[in-house]
Amino acid sequence: MRIAIPKESHPGENRIPIMPDHAKKLCALGADLFIESGMGLGAGFPDSDYTEAGATVTQDRHELFSNADLLLRLRKPELEEIAMMKQGAIHISYLDPFNEHGLVNAFKDCGITAISMEMIPRSTRSQKMDALSSQANLAGYVMVMQAATHLPRIFPMMMTPAGTLKPANVFVIGAGVAGLQAIATAKRLGAKVTAFDTRPVVAEQVRSVGAKFLEIDLGETGETADGYAKQLTPEQIEIQLQAQKAVIAKSDVVITTAQVFGRKPPVLVTKDMIEGMAPGSVIVDMAAETGGNVEGSVPNEIVQIAGVTVIGKGNLAGEVARDASQMYSANLFSLVEDNWNKEDKKFMVDFEHDILPGCIITHGGEVTNTTIKNILEGGA
Ligand code: NAD
Repeated sequence: MRIAIPKESHPGENRIPIMPDHAKKLCALGADLFIESGMGLGAGFPDSDYTEAGATVTQDRHELFSNADLLLRLRKPELEEIAMMKQGAIHISYLDPFNEHGLVNAFKDCGITAISMEMIPRSTRSQKMDALSSQANLAGYVMVMQAATHLPRIFPMMMTPAGTLKPANVFVIGAGVAGLQAIATAKRLGAKVTAFDTRPVVAEQVRSVGAKFLEIDLGETGETADGYAKQLTPEQIEIQLQAQKAVIAKSDVVITTAQVFGRKPPVLVTKDMIEGMAPGSVIVDMAAETGGNVEGSVPNEIVQIAGVTVIGKGNLAGEVARDASQMYSANLFSLVEDNWNKEDKKFMVDFEHDILPGCIITHGGEVTNTTIKNILEGGA
């Protein structure tokens, strides 16, 4: 089976899909591996590292796409790239299938099997393939680094002959994978951390990393069978906003990571709350690119609102591209290895597999994922 790995073309993207050590492992599985010249450069790996691993390096992107049986990459494709691929080929990448209806339809129409990294189920067995978690974990760390860089104060308490500096107050809204890592990182830097999440099970996890959990009685919240938060009612959101207001006002840093899977993120920090914060405070909005948890945050920009620095940078894991690539590459390789038929030396699209069917979006000219199919047909 011919596996092809193109160079990421999105401006500013330095993460790479496959590191040389995983390229070597793909070749060891018996894959005929082709990479586009320069594919590894973002994370510091020249073409020669891949030729040593057993891959063939090509300059011809069109040839790479049109002859691939399996295409591995990080970002979603361009429409014209889908048209270059041969019928029956497999494409694995992030895909954002809830929003990228044009891409999903193009994959369907071209008879390509599209596998979405976002749709890997959050089960124990699939943890090693879970790119959402690996990248969110790093994003949590990066958000704290960014806040610390922009805050005109230090995080830890410092007792010196020149006086005592109080620890910074950090409030984290949303304590999933990214939020918990942000909490742990801020704690390691010596900040006083408070956090809130709507899923009741999270309170214990927050306390276990040394932070205070803000108790807010929202009534019934719960989580889905996959462990995701359920969408709050407008009344519940209002209760949450009022309860958070005082904590936000005394925070030096607010980090927001609240998401409801497949939906627009809720706005949880409003303009008047920002105005209530001390000038020089910092807010990092992880959701800025997808709609924002913070009123006034701008995707990929750092803006000032009432003297507060509001950071809306996207691709946070990309700020630590080497480690992010290492983890994404491991996720991608594990997915391939788990579905690899060693005798036939090929990736099997098996609808009886315990993990794969949930992340297959299109196959054989059909949209096979029922959630996405319903959305495309206007049903959900
Ligand atoms: P996510 O990115 O979908 O959401 C981030 C957090 O925002 C979640 O914790 C969510 O509860 C929270 N949130 C939503 N609305 C909120 C609101 N109004 N206010 C405050 N917080 C709000 O979540 P995620 O980080 O991808 O994790 C989702 C779930 O998957 C978690 O339960 C996590 O533990 C679980 N998970 C399981 C595995 C595994 O078992 N292999 C791996 C990774 C994640």
